[in-house]
Amino acid sequence: MAKYQSINPFTNENFANYENSTNAQIEDAISLAHALYQKWRHESPSGRSKTLRQIAAELRQQKEEMAEIMTREMGKVIEESRGEVDLCASICDYYADKGPDMLKPQPIDSQLGKAYYLKQATGVIMACEPWNFPLYQVIRVFAPNFIVGNPVLLKHAHNVPGSAELITKIVKQAGAPEGSLINLFPTYDQLDTIIADSRIQGVALTGSERGGASVAENAGKNLKKSTMELGGNDAFIILDDVDPAVLKQALSSARTYNAGQVCTSSKRMIVAKSKYQEVLKELKAVFASLKPGDPLDPKTTLAPMNSAGAKEKLTQQVQAAIAGGAKVFYEYPEIDSAGAFFRPIILTNVDRDNPAFDQEFFGPVAIVYEVEDEEEAIALANDSSYGLGSSVLSSDIERARNVAAQIETGMTVINGTWISSGELPFGGVKKSGYGRELSELGMMAFVNEHLVIDMQSK
Ligand code: NAP
Repeated sequence: MAKYQSINPFTNENFANYENSTNAQIEDAISLAHALYQKWRHESPSGRSKTLRQIAAELRQQKEEMAEIMTREMGKVIEESRGEVDLCASICDYYADKGPDMLKPQPIDSQLGKAYYLKQATGVIMACEPWNFPLYQVIRVFAPNFIVGNPVLLKHAHNVPGSAELITKIVKQAGAPEGSLINLFPTYDQLDTIIADSRIQGVALTGSERGGASVAENAGKNLKKSTMELGGNDAFIILDDVDPAVLKQALSSARTYNAGQVCTSSKRMIVAKSKYQEVLKELKAVFASLKPGDPLDPKTTLAPMNSAGAKEKLTQQVQAAIAGGAKVFYEYPEIDSAGAFFRPIILTNVDRDNPAFDQEFFGPVAIVYEVEDEEEAIALANDSSYGLGSSVLSSDIERARNVAAQIETGMTVINGTWISSGELPFGGVKKSGYGRELSELGMMAFVNEHLVIDMQSK
């Protein structure tokens, strides 16, 4: 793990550095959060619902500050950062509105007695989050657990410490009690110790397969419930009857939003033969039209990657793909900047034995496949270690639904690209992880479904 530091990937300026948390600070954080859990156990969610509304309002109030620090730390274009703040405010509103009702006891039909289960908090949750959506990844865990009554400790990615600090400050300024969300800067070893602590009842991680496997192993060893939101290699299936306007719209951001650093970005474009040339042409036009520049400048449409290291890793992956037989259909011209810009590239002819075939490319790389028919498209989509999102584009909705149902994945968007909203469950299968975030399903991740049965009343 690198140090917790803020480095602007456009200018390479290291503008803030943070010390690791001391063991005493970690102990204080766990104690404070645990004490809050004990207090919340005796309170209904209605008070927290009001506070969550305030948090939404405070996020909207501090939108510019929040957006700017995210862009300065990990490079996304400023308009996308602002959109992320709006989305997070809406997620807080969603749980403030719906959360208390979702937590009402659930009656159970039983011959043995009057039965129901309570939906109760379990305790402090440890959240380990990645840099690609610095606010959204935290709110996805924090907002539902806040309503449930589970305080959250945060270990954010090493390259977005300023964002982590501002998020916790906003939550506090909105009136949330001390301990609701505590940011820490732990080492991996300290994180292991936190997870092992008996007061920690759950671990939520969003990140890579590598980070997920390590943290899940530790959670498992300590019998802690965990959710793992990991990488993806999403299939973007374009059928022969796609509506041209829908296709154009979808391709406009499918592989370039957040500089392609989205878990559910359309990484494998699987195209019916009759549409293959059209897709390549359109995708090339989209890539060629991008304008690199300072992500704080609203005119910029091609952002740098989040770090020089990420650019280097992606460069090596692309080189290995080409050495393995992939063809370059298009590559963006050289970019005259010291920033971590990766030149968007379109690859074709990636065979099954190419190292790229089953890898996640976390950046603006489109891999385009040509298929004979729907069956081949589905088989190719499923020939992956991952199963996070997917898209199906077709003007025949029944046909698209039928294809969607056959993809081994956690989410499918018909006639669109990836999407997220408070009410929509988010998560995957296979090496994309387990569990769901957001929606009612996500809120139940760390809830104790406590059965009560009264044997004397039927
Ligand atoms: P990452 O390296 O796994 O990091 C994620 C978080 O886990 C960071 O806080 C990181 O801390 C921590 N971490 C990593 N390895 C660890 C270890 N061995 N022990 C303890 N903590 C560890 O992931 P990333 O590369 O930053 O993020 C990109 C990945 O996230 C992509 O694969 C993307 O697809 C995936 N992602 C998935 C979703 C989803 O919802 N499924 C959403 C967004 C992103 P440090 O930064 O300090 O190393």
